[in-house]
Amino acid sequence: MNLYMPTKVFSEHHCVSNHRDEFKMLGKKAMIVTGKHSSRNNGSLDDVKEALAKNGQEYVIFDDMEENPSVETVVKATKAAVEEGVDFFFAIGGGSPMDASKAISLLSRNPEKLDHALEFLYTFQRADYYPVVAVPTTCGTGSEVTPYSVLTIHSRRTKKSIAHRIFPEIALMDARYLKTAGRNTIVNTCVDALGHLIEAFLCTNSNEINKIYAREGLRMWGEFKESLFQNSFSDELLEKYLHTSMLAGIAIAHTSTSIPHGLSYQLTYEKNIAHGRAVGYFLPGFLRIYEDGKRVEEVLNCLGFSAKEEFQEYIEKLIGKPEVTRAEWMKNVDTMMNQPEKLKNHPFPMTRDTLCKMLTV
Ligand code: NAP
Ligand code: ZN
Repeated sequence: MNLYMPTKVFSEHHCVSNHRDEFKMLGKKAMIVTGKHSSRNNGSLDDVKEALAKNGQEYVIFDDMEENPSVETVVKATKAAVEEGVDFFFAIGGGSPMDASKAISLLSRNPEKLDHALEFLYTFQRADYYPVVAVPTTCGTGSEVTPYSVLTIHSRRTKKSIAHRIFPEIALMDARYLKTAGRNTIVNTCVDALGHLIEAFLCTNSNEINKIYAREGLRMWGEFKESLFQNSFSDELLEKYLHTSMLAGIAIAHTSTSIPHGLSYQLTYEKNIAHGRAVGYFLPGFLRIYEDGKRVEEVLNCLGFSAKEEFQEYIEKLIGKPEVTRAEWMKNVDTMMNQPEKLKNHPFPMTRDTLCKMLTV
């Protein structure tokens, strides 16, 4: 049994300015890591800049963080951080800038490793890192409360979490920042959170304690599931989405993810399908092939579905089906079967035949 989630979470409107004392002591100069546009449009970047200025803390901005951040971009940002003498990080945005910031904080604290960044990031060893403050502006990854940093490795044509575990020091969750997110982003990221909840509940590492987070998250997800067909979302809904994704993040922080996430990375890398959507395509099949019917029933009950078929119908109505050829699907299956470390979080022996049944193409 393990129970550990050391991130201090503040969740309320204006929490960045309300709690600026909390990050006053974290460092002298921050690097704000963010994407190209969204944090400028939703007010989060201005809020962070203003709070840092009021605290008398310097900052530089790296606003070139791509979706599904690559090791190359992490190295580029690290070089800038080292040159600027940065000693803590503010990640603003979705999972991409949050995940990237964790890796940048680690590499910039160990700049002598920059020449062998890939090897250093993916080999577990004790190493220091600078503090990270996370400001999520999507509602799916939960990266603000997880120790994972999933990066794209172009040389291996896939994505993988680095070997180091880096929890953000502080998470500042202000649902107002979600207001600029379009329906696609909301749906994709909510479905990512659903994947985290289902996988946390059904994986090898799940236990009666960490299941508390997943069970409650599934119940909350079930409560708002029909709202995802709307085209606009109330403040109250945005807050619910954000809180559910945080609960899902706490759940996977303890259990890690399982088969649907493992399969999703190929779809994202090869077909450029958004992370949450790619995970969602595999969720109905995952429940279908899962050997313990009672546990699946509990998942469906929490979500308010009476049967696996009803869940499948709902997911297909929400996100559709993936456009993959049989050959692409078989390649994905074979890649997964060759990664025993990814299969071990599934509590039953996995055969190629069973895995094939997860998607009908
Ligand atoms: P994302 O890749 O961070 O962002 C997707 C898009 O949404 C970007 O174009 C971004 O624009 C935009 N966006 C972000 N916030 C917005 C807002 N409030 N309004 C309008 N647009 C907004 O998406 P994500 O789904 O949150 O993160 C996915 C990444 O997280 C993947 O790399 C995945 O592997 C990783 N992940 C990590 C964990 C973990 O535990 N660490 C868990 C699950 C997934 P800008 O570029 O302009 O900002
Ligand atoms: Zn995910």
